[in-house]
Amino acid sequence: MLIFASLIGQNIGKAEQKLSGTVIGTEYSVNYSNFTKSTTVNTKYDAFDGNLDTFFASWDRSSISETEIPRTWVGLDLGEKYVISKVGWAPRNAPGFGERRVQLGLFEGANLPDFTDAVPLYLIPEPGIIGTMSYADVNCSRGFRYVRYLGPDDARCNIAELEFYGEPGEGDDSHLYTVSNLPTVVIYTNGDFYGRDPVDKVNNYTSTISIISNKDDGTTTFFTAPGTTRLRGNASMGFDKKPYRIKFDKKQNILDAPAKAKKWTLINSWGDKTMLRNSVSFEIARRMGMDYVPYCRLVDVIYNGDYKGTYQLCDQVEINTNRVNVTEMEITDVDGDALTGGYLMEVDGYAESEGEGHYFWSNRGIPVTMKSPDESNDLPACLNYIYNYFNALESAVWSENRANICRYMDLDSFLKLFLVGEMTGNTDTFWSTYFSKERNDDIVRFGPIWDNDLALDNDYRTHNYFINQSKNSEWLFETSSGGGSSKAGSMGDFVRHILNSVVSDRIYNLWSNALYNGGLESRSLQEYVDDLAEEIDLSQQYNFKRWPILDSLEHLNFQALGSYDAEVRYLRNYIYNRCVWMNVKTGVVASGVTELPAQPDYVEIYNLQGVKVYSGNSMPSLDRGIYIINRGGTTRKVVITK
Ligand code: CA
Repeated sequence: MLIFASLIGQNIGKAEQKLSGTVIGTEYSVNYSNFTKSTTVNTKYDAFDGNLDTFFASWDRSSISETEIPRTWVGLDLGEKYVISKVGWAPRNAPGFGERRVQLGLFEGANLPDFTDAVPLYLIPEPGIIGTMSYADVNCSRGFRYVRYLGPDDARCNIAELEFYGEPGEGDDSHLYTVSNLPTVVIYTNGDFYGRDPVDKVNNYTSTISIISNKDDGTTTFFTAPGTTRLRGNASMGFDKKPYRIKFDKKQNILDAPAKAKKWTLINSWGDKTMLRNSVSFEIARRMGMDYVPYCRLVDVIYNGDYKGTYQLCDQVEINTNRVNVTEMEITDVDGDALTGGYLMEVDGYAESEGEGHYFWSNRGIPVTMKSPDESNDLPACLNYIYNYFNALESAVWSENRANICRYMDLDSFLKLFLVGEMTGNTDTFWSTYFSKERNDDIVRFGPIWDNDLALDNDYRTHNYFINQSKNSEWLFETSSGGGSSKAGSMGDFVRHILNSVVSDRIYNLWSNALYNGGLESRSLQEYVDDLAEEIDLSQQYNFKRWPILDSLEHLNFQALGSYDAEVRYLRNYIYNRCVWMNVKTGVVASGVTELPAQPDYVEIYNLQGVKVYSGNSMPSLDRGIYIINRGGTTRKVVITK
């Protein structure tokens, strides 16, 4: 027994070897006693001296407002590669705030001394305990020569003690760490932009972009490629949690996205506390049968060693076989057939910020941006062609003649976009409306939908509209209650003229088809929300530690419900109520009929006056007439002709 125990001891000893090496890290520390820059007091060596009362405090404070200064850190050059099995840490002995100075602190491993190839080893989820080492197992099979710890945001690293454990070896990539069950996107800026966070949409920072994904079966996929990153968006760019645009140097397939492309987006969802509104809206668009719905995947993001929170990794809306599928114009396409497409356009409330030559105002006052082509030997010729085309389309719309309108546009593509906008209650549907035109094709097609942060009742300007929605309510785009939904220029008139063009039969058919064949009904959508909420749960907990805003009104919020679960419940309820309303508004379900809880075989039958004529566990024989029948939770309008 003694021999056995001693063997075990040796094995543990090997796996749990406490590592030493050359202390590396941010050069300057702060001497708090006289608040001066120091190389002798509170230095990086104090994080490895075995004393829990001494600590490293960097001169610079790592902060979201200090975008020019690399985040401060301390670590070890191990001299050779080690596979790390455990990390330990103790917070600075400063009761009251020292504890919090390690929450969201990040351990990393790398094989380049500048850590631009770093991957995360562990993100500390909780405040530390003063005077006590805390430990976490590391589940990462890759070997690293360099390991380090970065303090969280708004701190001077502030760490009393660090320990790394592991065993020597190259290791492999069979398992890498992710912050949560979601894929983790890791971005490091390099070269002239080393360690700097982007501050605008103009400067593209050279970056290494990696994506780590752990599947349910335990397998890890690791992707890494060079590219650039910058900020993106409009209003969303102003929030502390920044939205990013990724552009790889070469087209890439990432995760399970259908498109191979250079450009991708990281959506920040600041005002949308559920962080699910884009995903849910895209699902509604899919069930509505829209041609193209942008790819969207929930991920965690680490940028230059700072955990930034939960994001949505999405397509860039652009021309691509698996995105907006029209011909991409060459720069020499300036006349003849080549000038007829393909175009990707946007009715765009922000058009004037695009710069002269990239947008126009239509004859009837709609601002339109030309997204593609954006480079051409004769850009004015392209813009002029599509300007004339759009004005012809607009004249047809203003004529309110359906046949005339259909000469210029795919009516169903517009009505689908309209119905998704109404179902999701997206204030911005006609503030930003994409459409495209293929080469040698006479019609434009509308879509995709994009930017749904304010959708699903998340905008104080339209909240009263949803509170008061009744069977007599107008469509959302018509509302002016509480400031109304936003429309770019005279886009509201554009929509109104189309609805006046005898399209109610198409609205009925499209909604009916989506409801009965596309799965666009409330219970199924609520299940979709529940699945996403489960998927995001661990990540959202980290996110709201990084950004504690669940109690505050952000962007256009009208309420702050104080918990993630409450925010999701509110979204679920909206979906139920709006589905009922849409079913009635489109005429697919008679007014006064409420969808019933699903019970297999249970049947309820109403006449067209909304009076219940039967309920029971089997279909009765019915007289001739029209009935509303709910069977097994699905409501249908049925004509009995026998
Ligand atoms: Ca120490």
